[in-house]
Amino acid sequence: RIRHPTNLPAPTDYDTSLTLEARKFLKTYGLTPPGVDTFEKQSERCLAILNSRKTPIEKYQYLSVLRNTNVHLFYRLLAENVKELTPLIYTPTVGEACQRWSELYTQPEGMYLSFEDRGNLHSVIQNWPHDVEITVVTDGSRILGLGDLGINGMGIPVGKLSLYTACAGIHPLKTLPLCLDLGTSNESFRNDPLYLGSRREKVTAEEEKDFLDEMMAALTERWPGIVIQYEDFKNPFPSLERYQETYTMFNDDIQGTGAVILGGFINAVKQSGVAPADQRAVFLGAGSAGVGVAKQLTEFFMKEGLSEDDAKRRFWLVDSQGLVTNDRPGKLADHKIYFSRDDNKGKQYKTLEEIVEYVKPTILMGLSTIGGAFTPKILSRMAEMNDRPVIFPLSNPSSKSECTFEEAIKYTNGKCLFASGSPFPTLNFGGKDLVPGQGNNMYVFPGIGLGAILSKAVSVTQNMIYSSAEALATSMLPTELQDHWLYPDIRRIREVSVIVTRGVIRAAQRDGVDRELALRNISDEELEEYIRQRMYDPFTEHEKVERELVDLAEKVMT
Ligand code: NAP
Ligand code: MN
Repeated sequence: RIRHPTNLPAPTDYDTSLTLEARKFLKTYGLTPPGVDTFEKQSERCLAILNSRKTPIEKYQYLSVLRNTNVHLFYRLLAENVKELTPLIYTPTVGEACQRWSELYTQPEGMYLSFEDRGNLHSVIQNWPHDVEITVVTDGSRILGLGDLGINGMGIPVGKLSLYTACAGIHPLKTLPLCLDLGTSNESFRNDPLYLGSRREKVTAEEEKDFLDEMMAALTERWPGIVIQYEDFKNPFPSLERYQETYTMFNDDIQGTGAVILGGFINAVKQSGVAPADQRAVFLGAGSAGVGVAKQLTEFFMKEGLSEDDAKRRFWLVDSQGLVTNDRPGKLADHKIYFSRDDNKGKQYKTLEEIVEYVKPTILMGLSTIGGAFTPKILSRMAEMNDRPVIFPLSNPSSKSECTFEEAIKYTNGKCLFASGSPFPTLNFGGKDLVPGQGNNMYVFPGIGLGAILSKAVSVTQNMIYSSAEALATSMLPTELQDHWLYPDIRRIREVSVIVTRGVIRAAQRDGVDRELALRNISDEELEEYIRQRMYDPFTEHEKVERELVDLAEKVMT
């Protein structure tokens, strides 16, 4: 019986760049067209097919097929076109792919674990045919900003793991996309005849906790040291708190987002010329993302010499009720208490405009999901009050971004230091091309994962997360800094991931959670070389296969 769940090497046996000798040995001779392709011709053909597909979802589907039929070719294409293809395999296109997952379903690409399987997760997991180094797991309950999509959320682990492979060179066969079927609160899915998940309502938090306990133990039992990345859980905090010390796990929505924003933020604070103690950050949005990010930035201010109390007082959080203060009527959600203010002298500040006047911020962060919330008036005020106002509208997708790059540049007269969550096009302003920073988690999570794998970390510590951001901030080229960029060129992502990975490994060593002790006593240069050597490279991988085949063929002949 042949099993092809995902990314199996077998289909590359039909790669059109294999030599005739290799084909003969594989007994695929005659099963592929006679011509022998070069990599360049293969890419050219793929890009032409891609171009002929009209909609992003059609392009997404073509790329899925390619990944499942010729994995090395897919990753070669991705490596050479990271900037152009990432939006097609991950956000924003993956959002639509998830919404329509059951409708468009064609092939298995990961593993589904159902609530009905509880008690037997260990044996279900045995069905996965490969050894795994890293898994991305979601329960589908908060896919991007699209709500509870149940098992249709599988697109997220699939897409994210492709990025782990493309950016950090984690071998595709060593990745496991994992989607939990714990019911869904999405009634239209439950009533949709094509929906491929169970039709139960979402299980209770207590039931989910027990299920996750079993899952964590089962995964780690089968693959000791596996890195488990949580993604798009509606309620991510309980798992993070529950597992982060006992398992090698992290939550990218909280920790990766915090880190990537911190990386850009470190560069923005440096370029703003304002000392950390004088920074004043207004956060529009005090949800899981807002609070997570603010906490991470607090740590930076502390490393810059502020006390925890002083650092935390650099932040003014704003939610749908206005400025988050201690004396607000009603009970504050637990996660908002840490940053809740007491300096408002009984006054309740409601609108962002009022709050900007009151706080006089140097920094404006948006994690509110409210598109356009940074109005022209607010942006102009930021520019009046600051030489280099820091403007980070981080909500996704672009329609929910608190402002566009164009608005930020226009109303601050080109003065702002800008990073957004969603991509915006380059802008010509005052005769210069300005490139917006995009706080894309892709800058850090691949290196966090690879760093945890290579150091064989027993857990992913806060210092490892922090160091990923610090390392990212140091990965800038002089030319990038000159142009006031806050993030490196995404086309350099593999090189950036090496630097991030090195930072993460060093932090694991400082915290004593590493088990690959041999990496402790080598220089930074040696460590970077070691990382490069361990990265899957779709170009050489393919050559390796070809070489092995030719060797084998010769052996068989003699
Ligand atoms: P969330 O839990 O829904 O939080 C949204 C927050 O915004 C809540 O605190 C909410 O207030 C507040 N809010 C809603 N309407 C508001 C209004 N009119 N005025 C002021 N505040 C308002 O969402 P989340 O998970 O934290 O994510 C928020 C955004 O961050 C999303 O758009 C997401 O795409 C983005 N994000 C970006 C990245 C990135 O890499 N850039 C990563 C993760 C998330 P209440 O608390 O009162 O409801
Ligand atoms: Mn996410």
